[in-house]
Amino acid sequence: MTVVTRFAPSPTGLLHLGGVRTALFSWLYARRHGGRFILRIEDTDRERSTDEAVRVILDGMQWLGLDADAGPYFQTQRFERYREVIAAMLAAGSAYRCYCTKQELEDERAQQLGRKEKPRYSGLCRNRAEPRVGAESVVRFKNPLEGTVVVEDLVHGPVVFENRELDDLIMARSDGTPTYNFCVVVDDMDMAITHVIRGDDHLNNTPRQMNMLRALGAAPPAYAHVPMILGADGAKLSKRHGAVSVLQYEEEGFLPWALLNYLVRLGWSHGDQEVFTLQELIAVFDIRDVNKAASAFNPEKLLWLNQQHMMRAQPAELVPYLRAQLKRLGLDSDNEALLEGVVLAQRERAKTLKGMAQNSRFFFTGDIELDPKAARKHLTAAEAPALQETRARLAALGEWSAAPINDALNALAAELGVGLGKIAQPLRVAVTGSAVSPPIDVTLALLGRERTLARLDAGIARCQGG
Ligand code: GLU
Repeated sequence: MTVVTRFAPSPTGLLHLGGVRTALFSWLYARRHGGRFILRIEDTDRERSTDEAVRVILDGMQWLGLDADAGPYFQTQRFERYREVIAAMLAAGSAYRCYCTKQELEDERAQQLGRKEKPRYSGLCRNRAEPRVGAESVVRFKNPLEGTVVVEDLVHGPVVFENRELDDLIMARSDGTPTYNFCVVVDDMDMAITHVIRGDDHLNNTPRQMNMLRALGAAPPAYAHVPMILGADGAKLSKRHGAVSVLQYEEEGFLPWALLNYLVRLGWSHGDQEVFTLQELIAVFDIRDVNKAASAFNPEKLLWLNQQHMMRAQPAELVPYLRAQLKRLGLDSDNEALLEGVVLAQRERAKTLKGMAQNSRFFFTGDIELDPKAARKHLTAAEAPALQETRARLAALGEWSAAPINDALNALAAELGVGLGKIAQPLRVAVTGSAVSPPIDVTLALLGRERTLARLDAGIARCQGG
């Protein structure tokens, strides 16, 4: 059997981490089993669906690298098919027209509540032989009246539902439009989905969906309902906790595979391994190992993992991400060697690519910003002679690379009888604008001789009050 999974978001809100984790689990499970992964946009709720939300889903999935083997399908493009299935179910007697009015249903509900019963549709129209002339009708599914439905959930274990607790679900509204639970059933059947992996807020829909699939002669797929992500305070992850569009994480300078690594570890583990490549995940992931308890989002851990992945990546892999961040700052470079060098020099001290770009402005701009405090401290008249001597030594260097630069600076410090920092700090402030940068030899090597000397000249002028 070929495994077929799907990610079926409703574009009613911007795709956020909870949805991404569901998508990831579905994608991983398909990849693990050499199966297929389908993307399906459940956009039947025309009022709440937005184009912007669809865009975030498509762009987000692409950014994350969660490639689909089929789709995106849009439910709004499948209405013909839903109508066909409704007609067939009406003809087969597994669905019926219900003419009960809103008022009648409300009265029924009030009476049931009055008797302290769980409100549910009584099935009044189930056996109606004749239509009610002039009345609008919805189409309901004829749910079995007896017996149980057992969801053999891959995360929760068996969950048993009594059919008598399930009322007859509306499949089509009075205007003929199909309802959400019904469309899911038709799609899962038509797309031959073998494993439905979704949020556990859908567990209660599952017995009805299984009954409808059976009525259609289709075998229900396997189900895995995964828990929600909670905020650190234990409440459902919401905007308040930074549950923003997944694309915000791109903007913030996270690597997509680091974000995926973070999300997979929420409620799933493999020994005590924390850092995984996607290939490693594909090799070991099993949906059955996902915890059924919800886990809390921890932004610090995400930052940590992001840096771990930055440290492990080939510098060239990070270059496009660094460039994208530089562009956001109005900077750019096509100097691949410089970009890779900056990645290598900076990644120990940046947790995100955005942070790396911000710390690296001086490599990519002609006019550096001088930190006034650092300038006041290090670019003083007293420092001018040493800085001039530093410039002379550097200008005279044969080869411009980190080792000879380092040797020259150490030699000068020894001659002057001072520590290297005494030489390096004014030099650093002059060429980078601040008192913090990667090691000075690496920084100068990357900047190049010309820019270094020009900035030193400006720094010396400043020391001299120019
Ligand atoms: N469209 C549903 C949602 O976004 C998911 C339905 C499903 O996976 O079956 O919550």
